[in-house]
Amino acid sequence: MTPNPLAGTGEAAPTPPRPRRVFRRIRVTRTEQLSPHMVRVTFTGDDLSAFAWNGPAAHIKLVFPEAGQVEPALPQPEGPRPNNIRTYTPRRFDPAVPELDVEFVLHGDGPASNWASQVQVGQSLVLAGPGPNYQVDPAADWFLLAGDDTAIPAISTILDALPATTRAIVILEVQDPQEEQALHSAAALEVTWLHRGSNQPDALLEQALRDFSLPSGDGRIYVGAESGAMRRIRQHLLRERGLDARQIVTRGYWKAGATNYTDHDYGTD
Ligand SMILES: Cc1cc2nc3c(=O)[nH]c(=O)nc-3n(C[C@H](O)[C@H](O)[C@H](O)COP(=O)(O)OP(=O)(O)OC[C@H]3O[C@@H](n4cnc5c(N)ncnc54)[C@H](O)[C@@H]3O)c2cc1C
Repeated sequence: MTPNPLAGTGEAAPTPPRPRRVFRRIRVTRTEQLSPHMVRVTFTGDDLSAFAWNGPAAHIKLVFPEAGQVEPALPQPEGPRPNNIRTYTPRRFDPAVPELDVEFVLHGDGPASNWASQVQVGQSLVLAGPGPNYQVDPAADWFLLAGDDTAIPAISTILDALPATTRAIVILEVQDPQEEQALHSAAALEVTWLHRGSNQPDALLEQALRDFSLPSGDGRIYVGAESGAMRRIRQHLLRERGLDARQIVTRGYWKAGATNYTDHDYGTD
């Protein structure tokens, strides 16, 4: 890290200017119902080939139509933040076509979930990003990747990026057996599906992680879940298990009762 020249002087370091957000119009070319509550949408766009895919578990911002709009307006880079902007995971990108897959959980009422419930070929959204990705350590002995439905796309991109020399243990909570999906990786893969049923979201996930016997060796853990559950899991891993924070990445993917939850909740507060 570059040393801060102002360290110890009592002066605040200047905040670097936020990079200008580039907004692109993207259009639906295909849809695929992966399960009753998960739909994969494939988008293309005139300047989508310039999308800078940056690896697993990154995030993008999508702008959805507001009431009365057929499609969202293209925001100005310096203009006000659009109202119906939400965070998603770029699941697969092929610059040659170009095309981008995004997988949407149909969780209930919300501009993004409502749009995905009715999606049709030809409809358009606005895309910005991608934001930061997850750094895979290819030397790690094992990875524990855990989350709920919203983290399936991110965990799938991590699985895609793992080398065959490692072991991937995946624990995912979904509503019921119909929401399970086939997962693939070059790594040795063990998957456990938890069925939420009438339990509070991510309660079974939290319990499964508390009960889990960590393998020996140098491991890495990624958790993507509801913000409160993610925090409790993170505290458990750090305080009760004594793991090193450098082994763990936790992300709040949504928060019960909050609309448009932030894209930078890593639970490190
Ligand atoms: C880094 C990152 C990557 C993400 N990637 C994906 C992805 O690839 N696919 C995906 O489907 N989601 C993903 N999410 C989660 C998604 O951004 C949220 O679920 C978002 O709130 C959906 O917007 P909405 O307009 O449908 O609902 P909002 O208007 O944001 O919320 C409306 C209501 O729905 C509730 N709610 C939101 N999400 C859920 C949920 N999953 N289950 C139950 N209730 C919910 C809220 O608490 C609120 O009460 C990601 C989030 C982050 C931070």
